[in-house]
Amino acid sequence: MFESLKKYNSFHIDSIAKYFVTIENEQDLVPLQNNDSLVKSKKFILGGGANILFVDDFDGMILHSQINDLSIIEETSDYAIVQAGSGCKWDDLVEFALSNNLYGIENLISIPGSVGAAPVQNIGAYGVEQQDSFYSLDAFDLDTFKKTTFSKADCKFGYRDSFFKAPENNNKYFITQVRYKLSKREQLNCDYKDVKEAISKKGIKNLNAKILSQVISEIRNSKLPNLNEIGCAGSFFKNPFVSAEKAEELKSIYNDIPIYKNGDSYKTSAAYLIEKCGLKAYREGDAGVYDRHSLILINYGKASGRELFNLSKKVQNIVMEKIGIALECEAIIVESDKK
Ligand SMILES: Cc1cc2nc3c(=O)[nH]c(=O)nc-3n(C[C@H](O)[C@H](O)[C@H](O)COP(=O)(O)OP(=O)(O)OC[C@H]3O[C@@H](n4cnc5c(N)ncnc54)[C@H](O)[C@@H]3O)c2cc1C
Repeated sequence: MFESLKKYNSFHIDSIAKYFVTIENEQDLVPLQNNDSLVKSKKFILGGGANILFVDDFDGMILHSQINDLSIIEETSDYAIVQAGSGCKWDDLVEFALSNNLYGIENLISIPGSVGAAPVQNIGAYGVEQQDSFYSLDAFDLDTFKKTTFSKADCKFGYRDSFFKAPENNNKYFITQVRYKLSKREQLNCDYKDVKEAISKKGIKNLNAKILSQVISEIRNSKLPNLNEIGCAGSFFKNPFVSAEKAEELKSIYNDIPIYKNGDSYKTSAAYLIEKCGLKAYREGDAGVYDRHSLILINYGKASGRELFNLSKKVQNIVMEKIGIALECEAIIVESDKK
C-alpha cells in the first residue's frame, strides 16, 4: 500500500504516501465513494508534482490523475475548443495547439505539470495566464461524488490563484477535463521585456507563434534548473503586492527596485527582495536558494522536505525582518498531521 512519491514531485523528495490511487478515467472515481480509506483519511490530489513540497510522509490517500485524452471538440472558422484530460502534460496541450494552428497559450510553453493543475494554479508566464484562454472544466466533488462543470467565472481566477485553492475547496474537487477556447488568428503577445530583447537580439523578422514559443523555451532553459539534475518546484514564493505608501518607502531605499502599479496596489519582485537580504545562492546542506533565480528553492540532492521547508521559513523571516514584507508561498506545502 505504501508508495514513494519521489518520482511524483519535482523536488525529488522521498516522501511516502499511505495510499496511492491512479485515476485513468471518470469511472475510476465512482467506486471510491464506498472506499473507507478515502472517506476516513486525509486526501491530496496530485498532478505532476511540479509545485508541491512534501514536508514529511503523507498519512492519507493520494489521488493521481492519468486521464490523458486530448481533442478538439468544437470548431468554427474563428476558434476551436480543445478538451484535455487532467492527466495530460500541460506542454503536450501547448504543442497540440501549435501543431493545429490554434493560438492563445503559446507563451505558456514548457511549464512543467499537468492540465488539471493549470486552472488550480492559474499558471502564467511571459505576459499570459491560462485564464486568458480558459473555457470550462469538469470536476468531481469528492464529498458528494457529483460532477459539476465550472465556467470561467466560477473558477474565480487570480494571480496564481483560483476557487480551488480556497481552504474549503482544497482537495475537494477532482478535476477531470479542462477546455480552452483557442483562436485561429495569431495574435502574438511579445510585450514581455526578456522576450522583446531576445527577438531583437536574434534579429527575428517574421515572427510567428511557433518561433515565439521556441524563443520563450530558450529563455526558460537558460534561467530555470534542469529538473533531471536539480530538484525544484519553480517559483517558491509569489511576487508580493504592497500599498502605495510601502511602494514609496521601497523606492526611496532601493532605486532600482522593479515595482509597478497593479490595480489598487503595487506589485514587486520577491526575487529582488530575497537578493537584497543577501540570500542569493544561500545554502544549508542540500537545500538552497538558486543562484540564477532567487525565487526558486532547490534540492541539490539529498535535502529532505523538512529541510527545504525550514529554509523557506528562514527566507520568509529574514525578508520580513529586514524589509517588512510577508512572502506568500506559491508552492503548495503538504504537511502530514503526524509530526
Ligand atoms: C522548473 C519549473 C518551472 C515552472 N514555471 C512556471 C511558470 O512559468 N508559471 C507557472 O505558473 N508555474 C510554473 N511552475 C509551477 C508548476 O509548473 C505549475 O504550478 C503547474 O501547474 C503544476 O502542475 P502539476 O500537475 O505538477 O501540479 P501539482 O504540483 O501536482 O499540484 C498543484 C496543485 O494543483 C492541484 N491539482 C493537481 N491536479 C489536480 C486535479 N486533477 N484536480 C484538482 N486539483 C489538482 C493539487 O492538489 C495542487 O493543489 C514551474 C515549476 C517548475 C518545477
